[in-house]
Amino acid sequence: MPIMISLDLSGKVALVMGVTNERSLAWAIGHQLLQAGARCIFSYQGERLLSGLEKLTKAYPETLFEVCDVTQESDLERLFARIGSEMGGLDMIVHAIAYAPRASMEGRFLDTTLEDYQIALGVSAYSLVSVTRHAEPLLRSGSSIVTLTYYASQRVVAKYNVMGIAKAALEASVRYMAYELGSKNIRVNAISAGPMRTIAGSSIPGFRDMFAKAAATAALGRNATQEEAGKLGLFLLSDLSSGITGEVSFVDGGYNIMGMALDG
Ligand code: NAP
Repeated sequence: MPIMISLDLSGKVALVMGVTNERSLAWAIGHQLLQAGARCIFSYQGERLLSGLEKLTKAYPETLFEVCDVTQESDLERLFARIGSEMGGLDMIVHAIAYAPRASMEGRFLDTTLEDYQIALGVSAYSLVSVTRHAEPLLRSGSSIVTLTYYASQRVVAKYNVMGIAKAALEASVRYMAYELGSKNIRVNAISAGPMRTIAGSSIPGFRDMFAKAAATAALGRNATQEEAGKLGLFLLSDLSSGITGEVSFVDGGYNIMGMALDG
């Protein structure tokens, strides 16, 4: 007798943060959520992104959009007030936001200024904490939150610099929030994606090299795709992963498991 697995998210409400274009990891996950029937609100940093978002989601007329720079308290307050009044509650959050000033990823990590350090950690790690705190009153039992991280949180990846520290803070934040929200049956997880060609990815100095080297090292002999990251997001946001919280799950073609490969 086959086990029937249903992924019908109709009636569920998702907040998706960080879509810039069709390559964004937020879109990879958001698209899966829309296809599974969830109603989504997409938040975006600047007005220039709205028309692209409207085009991407035109098959889903119930979709909402709201501008939100995660460093602005007033933007967060407006976003969650709107979700409360127009959507009535929240079941899923996709946090796919990161930023570090270019200069902090070009030179030595040792030369990172305090200002650049604070910007990178504030946008890329603390924002998950503030988003979750604002969302908490709206999150229903069974809710799931997913953020995006990268392997440079654990191992040195040249030029990733302060963003590696931000990702380490992000992953630790996931664990603390998973603990504190567990009693409310709210889960928090991170997806650790391998290199993917997005605006944020491609802006890392040496990204082309990184992309090629990661593919050559990965157990699968290739990098994972945005679609594969999207499917992992769908799994972690749905009830299929109801026993999983506080984890970092890799979608990197098996890059992170490798120590040393031998030719032949
Ligand atoms: P992306 O399409 O460029 O998405 C990054 C998003 O963050 C953009 O929408 C950007 O908005 C937004 N953002 C930056 N600062 C913000 C702020 N203050 N308020 C609100 N939004 C802000 O690139 P992506 O690769 O999909 O990145 C999504 C996440 O995946 C990031 O956390 C990234 O570190 C992570 N990740 C990416 C890779 C990769 O190789 N691509 C691998 C592992 C993890 P603007 O466009 O307006 O700047």
